[in-house]
Amino acid sequence: AKQNGKNTYQFYTSDMNFTTFENLILENKLYNALERKELELYYQPQVDLNTGQIIGMEALIRWINPELGLVSPGKFIPIAEETGLIIPIGEWTLRSACKQNKVWQNMGYEPMRVAVNISACQFQQEGFVEKVGQILNETGLESKWLEIEITESIAIKNVDFTARTLRKFKDMGVKVSIDDFGTGFSSLAYLKNFKIDALKIDYSFVRDIGINSDNESIIKAIIMLAKNLKLNVIAEGVETKEQLSFLRDEECNESQGYLFSKPVPSKDFEKLLVRHNAF
Ligand code: C2E
Ligand code: CA
Ligand code: CA
Ligand code: CA
Repeated sequence: AKQNGKNTYQFYTSDMNFTTFENLILENKLYNALERKELELYYQPQVDLNTGQIIGMEALIRWINPELGLVSPGKFIPIAEETGLIIPIGEWTLRSACKQNKVWQNMGYEPMRVAVNISACQFQQEGFVEKVGQILNETGLESKWLEIEITESIAIKNVDFTARTLRKFKDMGVKVSIDDFGTGFSSLAYLKNFKIDALKIDYSFVRDIGINSDNESIIKAIIMLAKNLKLNVIAEGVETKEQLSFLRDEECNESQGYLFSKPVPSKDFEKLLVRHNAF
């Protein structure tokens, strides 16, 4: 408790205080998570809206700790970023996703891309492009089957650096998408200078289909923009048939969301691959 004036005490019983304490525990356990093999990748299908086929998947990290249970990435990724743990964790994620994708290809499934989320510090790390190249070499995955997802805010932080880095990925053949697109609009001008392949429409807009016409207009605008720049456009967080039919009508290329499947462990994802045409 902190003394506040003469006789009054102000107690730190707020969420804030609890969160800090909780984060400390998480941080301590996170240091060992990699070597104790507590991290796992889940996969969520990305569906081509023309054919109904799965044409890609997003790898989403999960941390399953014996004491804490399942910890969501929303909770531990920020801690990993603060502590620098995101560098080894991010490398593990890239390697695991590429390796798994190659395993599925070797098993004879239709080849498809795997999308991996990249944090700001990872993207800005020296030698990151080379590291990705090394992982592709090691795992034997062709570069065209890897997509990296960076957020709009990472991209516009240092426009020149981003443009140079994205050009290197382009030359290498690795695909790049801009995640959470529409949430951090500052300038559209940079888009045409960036060598990217896809825009991902943020969940917050998709959620509002049939509810908020302003957000519907934003979706339409993003799809039009993507078409004009010849980019692929993926809607995330699709949960209902109504949302899906809106996106189909607007000629969005691809969708991802609970309507098709939640992110699932690799063994379960394999079952989705078997019924390739199910959606
Ligand atoms: P994100 O990249 O925007 O990922 C989409 C999030 O939406 C995922 O949450 C996914 O499970 C969830 N989602 C997918 N479909 C639906 C839907 O239909 N409805 C709803 N309500 N949600 C849906 P998740 O897996 O908890 O990941 C949260 C965030 O954590 C991700 O947001 C991403 O920013 C970050 N993240 C996840 N894995 C990694 C990773 O390997 N590396 C890094 N740096 N960040 C990661
Ligand atoms: Ca993502
Ligand atoms: Ca997203
Ligand atoms: Ca997001």
